[in-house]
Amino acid sequence: MKLTKLEVKGFKSFGDKIVINFDEGVTAVVGPNGCGKSNVVDSIRWVLGEQSTRALRSEKMENIIFNGNKSRKPANLAEVSLTFDNTKNVLPTDFSQVTLTRKLYRSGESEYRLNDVQCRLKDITDLFLDTGIGSDSYSIIELKMIDEIITNKENSRRALFEEASGISKYKLRKKQTFNKLKDTEADLERVEDLLFEIE
Ligand code: ATP
Repeated sequence: MKLTKLEVKGFKSFGDKIVINFDEGVTAVVGPNGCGKSNVVDSIRWVLGEQSTRALRSEKMENIIFNGNKSRKPANLAEVSLTFDNTKNVLPTDFSQVTLTRKLYRSGESEYRLNDVQCRLKDITDLFLDTGIGSDSYSIIELKMIDEIITNKENSRRALFEEASGISKYKLRKKQTFNKLKDTEADLERVEDLLFEIE
């Protein structure tokens, strides 16, 4: 699976729309300090569903919306779209091209879209689970992540292998099933209490 295009508008330093096409070979983003190179990576993290403002180097989520400069008014909307070539069907969907979009309005409203159809964050995390691409996965490797892997902080090395070998989704499903079982047991107990009261 290949990343083919990134479109960013109103996100951090990008008041004007930028489009980055990832052609064959390696794509490098270069520029002087503070010109917005890391903001490109932040935008990829964000569109993949990142919820942690710390990971986005921001105090609050609203701060990721372009807040204007000498020549441009602040934006009301941050919008990022990321397109993948899915001809090898790595993503479990019939689409050969998948475009993921995330929007955030200054009013606080936000929205996720998959191929221009509104969806939930859960649909996106489920789609990318075990592909190595999720927001907290290993497709974006920062220096501090390398430190964590070397020191094996919070069993991070194991989590990395679990994601790469494709078992994260089963672990997640197991956890969800256990939670449902717990809820059902609580419901059953309540039904028994009610029956006892009626009798
Ligand atoms: P370095 O090489 O120093 O790491 P960089 O090229 O990676 O820098 P970034 O950290 O991506 O640069 O970008 C920093 C710039 O983004 C700063 O000039 C900052 O003012 C600008 N910026 C961040 N958030 C916003 C925002 N919401 N609106 C406008 N500009 C923003």
